Formats: sequence, structure tokens, C-alpha cells
Amino acid sequence: MSRFAHPAGDRHAEMLPQERPPLAPADLNRINPAIWPRTSTRTDGALTVGGVDVRDLAREYGTPLYVLDEDDVRSRMRDYATAFAGSEVHYAGKAFLCKEIVRWLEAEGLGLDVASNGELAVALSVGFPAERITMHGNNKSVAELTRALEAGVGHIVVDSYDEIARLGYLAEQHGKRPKVMIRVTTGVEAHTHEFIATAHDDQKFGLSLNTGAAAEAVRRILALPQLELVGLHSHIGSQIVDTAGFEVAARRLTALLVQIKDEHGVVLPELDLGGGYGIAYVEGDEAPDIKQLADSLREIVAKVCVDAGLPVPRLTVEPGRTVVGPGGITLYEVGTIKDVEGLRTYVSIDGGMSDNVRTALYGAEYTAALVSRASDAEPMLSRLVGKHCESGDIIVRDFHLPADLAPGDLIAVAATGAYCRSLASNYNYLPRPAVVAVSNGASRVIMQGETEDDLLRGQL
Ligand SMILES: *Cc1c(COP(=O)(O)O)cnc(C)c1O
Repeated sequence: MSRFAHPAGDRHAEMLPQERPPLAPADLNRINPAIWPRTSTRTDGALTVGGVDVRDLAREYGTPLYVLDEDDVRSRMRDYATAFAGSEVHYAGKAFLCKEIVRWLEAEGLGLDVASNGELAVALSVGFPAERITMHGNNKSVAELTRALEAGVGHIVVDSYDEIARLGYLAEQHGKRPKVMIRVTTGVEAHTHEFIATAHDDQKFGLSLNTGAAAEAVRRILALPQLELVGLHSHIGSQIVDTAGFEVAARRLTALLVQIKDEHGVVLPELDLGGGYGIAYVEGDEAPDIKQLADSLREIVAKVCVDAGLPVPRLTVEPGRTVVGPGGITLYEVGTIKDVEGLRTYVSIDGGMSDNVRTALYGAEYTAALVSRASDAEPMLSRLVGKHCESGDIIVRDFHLPADLAPGDLIAVAATGAYCRSLASNYNYLPRPAVVAVSNGASRVIMQGETEDDLLRGQL
């Protein structure tokens, strides 16, 4: 089975608010387990995650606050390790990285992708084994390549001719022979249900299959004895719920593997299909099951290689969002509530695009709820907005909150574990919020919130 079943149909949020099925007050109190962290429940009306009441979290740590359900995240790490046993799972650190996450990865047996010296430093600072790290990036600096070589990272994914020459020179200087993969642009681009098989080559990542650049990169690497070419890499998109695009990409990569074998007599032993698997952000979103995904991807790779007369390479996958996304929520306190007559109610919270830029950046959708109490008030069409000086500072564009919402209430936004803290900024000099892990009724800070001193540090 190479496709995940999905309704051909619409996403909830593509409907205008007035076209949606009418909501009852009880719907607003519902904590959908497909969207919220695995340990979420409503107890006495308030949301509890990891056995900790969010009102206690807000009291102890303040708001805004990133809350990570440790059991949720670690169970997803374990699910990947189990489902992909015999293959490699490299968590894409850009989704969210800190020392504690690295410790969890190590304990659960996953590898790690980094894309800068900063990300590499986080991993090395807690003794993560360098051979389980892959370094990515379309413009790795000499300092980054040098650090990667010195640390002895497991793989470096090269992304340009310049980099091949640069890495060859540095490897020789340092007396190293790194394992390298080539980032190949396959012409496949996928998002949610859709993929296109003829994506243009007009983008910064990778070496094109279509133009012959990937094959030329192979020639250049094989000509450098100080580089060990071990495989091909491709990453086709994000928030993908269907494996059809991976199948086309795998087929195209395999055709290149055949070409390499014919031209150079070399059989590359590894194939990295990247990440990009989707999670549920709003009602009706689908999220691929990890076990099914693993079976499907492995079946695809085995099939295309057998068809091509090649041995099946070692498969690597690079999930980011699916590992940390669903286990995270962001907790905010309601400040001002502004009813714009006849339109909607603007609910302002004490954070915004500085702690979650995804809605402003690319129209992401989220589920949010009143979580400090249950309410049986009527649904009120709302827009959740931040406190920044931008009218695009929106967290949730259209959703319903109970009409008795009041300043001081707590609102949580679900599925914010990925690409929120990692993309956070200090816009308007807001300090970036703390990240707190919750598990078994206890909470602890895994990343401190910034203070005013942090904001002023380094200014002359
Ligand atoms: C971003 C990225 C990933 C992870 O993507 P997710 O959508 O978070 O799963 C994996 N590999 C590469 C090369 C990436 O750039």
C-alpha cells in the first residue's frame, strides 16, 4: 500500500465560518485526542497535560509558556525507532532542539539532523554521539564544515559543487574521510494530499536530477578520494499525509543509482528520503500512522530497487514535526477582548507572532481552546491575536470561544511543539517564553524563558 486513505474533500478551515456545522458549547470544551498531546484531559474543567493542571503551570512559570508533554514526545520517538527498526531515523533538529530533547533522542535510539554550528553545539554539549549526526545546509560555512569534520559527524549532505570542493579541501587538511550524501532535487514537491512530479528546479536546495547536476556531483565526489560517497538524499516537502510523492522521488533516485552503477561501477549503499510527514492541527486533518508510514516507505524502496536490479539500500528518514509537534501546546493569558460589531471578536493574548510565527508566515491553522475552566456559554466567532505591532499578528484566524470569555482566562493552542520555539523571535523586545516539560504530575523547565537582562545583553 503506497497511499494513505484520505477523503478527497475539503479541509474544515477552507469553509467560511458561517458554512461550518453549528457548534454546541460542549464542542468548545472538547479536547480532541487526535490534536492535543496524548496525556491531555479536562479535569474539573481545566486542561491537564502530563498530569499537571495548566492553571498551576501558569501560576508557577507565567505566560506565554511552551508546554511539552514528555511522554507524548518520547513515545513518538520510540514509535519511530520501533517502526523503522533496521533503517535509520534522524530527527530534524530544526523543528525544536534543546539539550533535553537531545538526551531523549539518545535514550530512545534516534539520530539527529543539524543545519548549523549552533544546532551541532547543542547536540555535542550533552555528549550526543557524533556518528549519529547528519549535517545539512545549502550554505555551510568553512567553520561549520570544519566543526563537523573535527567532531566526526556520521554524514554530511552536500548541496553544491562549491561545497564538494570546499569539503574535499578541508577533509584533506584535517586528515578525515567523511561519509557524504548528495542532496538531490528530484522534481517532486509535496504538500498535504497534493504532490507535483514536475516541480521546477528554480529553488536554492539540492542538485537537480533533471539538469544533470546531481550526476555531475557524483563524478566530482568520486574523483576526490578524501570523500566517501555513500548515498543520495531527497526531501520533498512538509505536512505530507500520503506516500505517493515519496514513491515518485524514490523511483527517480533509484534511476540515478542505476546510472551511477553503470557509469562508475559503484553501488551506493544508502538512501535518505527526508521527512515532511504531517500532523493534525485542526479537526479533520489526517496524520499518517508511523507504523504504516514505515511499512509503506520500506515497501516502496524495496520495490523500486528490485525493479531496477539493485540491492536494497539502507533507508534513512528524517521526521521533525511528527516527533515534537503534537506533544507541545502554548499557554497564553487572555488580555483584551474586542468585539468588532457584526464581524468577530478579537481576543488578544500575551504573546503572538514572536512565539508562533507560522500563521503570519504561511497561513498555518491551529486549534485553540479556553483551558482554565469549562464553559457552557454560546460559541463566539473569534480571532486569536498577539500583542505585536503588526495586523498580521494572528495565531488562529477563525474559531470559536465561549462568549463568557474574560481577561485572565487561559487559552492553549494545540500542536505547537514544532517550528514555534525554533522560529521564535524577540520582535517588540518580547522575551522568548520558557519551555516546560510535564510528565507524571510533575513539571520542569527544559529551556529557561528570557529575561529583560537577556534582552539587553550585548548592547553597547
Ligand atoms: C525540514 C527538514 C526535515 C523535517 O521536516 P518535517 O516536516 O519537520 O518532518 C527533514 N529533512 C530535511 C532535509 C529538512 O530540511
